[in-house]
Amino acid sequence: ATPTAVMVGSGVAASHGILIKGADALERASRVRTVVFDKTGTLTRGAPAVTAHALFGGASLRGALALAAAAEAASEHPLARAVLAYARTHLAPVEGDTGGEALPGAVRADGEAQDLSWVRRARDVEAIPGRGLKCWVRAEEQDWEAGAASPQRQPAGGGGSGEVRVLIGNRRLMAEEDVGISRETADFMREAEGGAATCVLLAAGQRLAAAFAVADPVRPEAAGVVAALRARGFAVHLVTGDNWTTARIVAARLGIRHVAAEVLPAGKADQVRALQGGKGGVAMVGDGVNDSPALAAADVGIAIGSGTDIAVEAADYVLMRPDLEGVLLALDLSATTFRRIH
Ligand code: ADP
Ligand code: MG
Repeated sequence: ATPTAVMVGSGVAASHGILIKGADALERASRVRTVVFDKTGTLTRGAPAVTAHALFGGASLRGALALAAAAEAASEHPLARAVLAYARTHLAPVEGDTGGEALPGAVRADGEAQDLSWVRRARDVEAIPGRGLKCWVRAEEQDWEAGAASPQRQPAGGGGSGEVRVLIGNRRLMAEEDVGISRETADFMREAEGGAATCVLLAAGQRLAAAFAVADPVRPEAAGVVAALRARGFAVHLVTGDNWTTARIVAARLGIRHVAAEVLPAGKADQVRALQGGKGGVAMVGDGVNDSPALAAADVGIAIGSGTDIAVEAADYVLMRPDLEGVLLALDLSATTFRRIH
């Protein structure tokens, strides 16, 4: 293509809110035959909300929410925001909350200023990619129902007095930390995941305290975009860190036949490289920190502009509007630009 054609192509893209970094990105996009989508925040809105919870091991609702909020206040993960919002609706309105040390109001990744003064402060927060996080939080007697053995008395070890080891995340995290999943918890998870929700598990002192079902609706245009891509002959894949049940249900709803779930962040890039062994180039569409290696590895990385900065940096294309039609438009535009000239 002539420099003029590329300029025109980039201009048309820009008018649709699609930012293209560099002229050769447009050329590479014209060779793409496979499109890989991340799930959370990409095919789904990335505005998940807690729809149900269950308590275990004698944990009180206020206690479970206080521990969960303390841990998730340190995370920018969309699931963390959902848990925090749920906790806030239950905990924040109560005057004179036992809360403990006040955190100053913080500005979160979505730019929304939040009053976190009701959140207990977590110590030594450790994010575990693709799993969740670990930390220490001060526990209180009323975090457990009267008569329940409060876990901080158990030899969890390591914490200061009155602190409890808090783990929040998925079943992989619990398995790796030797936290057993009871029949009751497994039933709750099966029910939630069967409805395409994701389960966030909370453990305090090596024992499960609660589970939260978090639902994230798919973007309204997602099914149409997938159908249009397939009609143009693209192979469409879903690659997600989320569990297999939820991934399969979302894929089925959207007409995506190729699914990889429970993939760790490094694994997403491996999936992209494996697909590059096939015919044509591979485009990766994602929004999260965990997508950035895959966005960089792909022939064309397409980031949702409302996603994390690191994903936007790793990508060749940025969709300034959180609308998946932009993926279709970007691929159509590059094909048109290069077909016209060749
Ligand atoms: P995705 O591909 O769905 O964007 P991620 O790699 O970001 O996946 O996360 C994979 C899984 O790890 C999530 O589905 C969730 O189960 C768990 N997880 C990660 N971070 C958190 C967190 N802060 N709180 C709870 N769960 C988390
Ligand atoms: Mg994501």
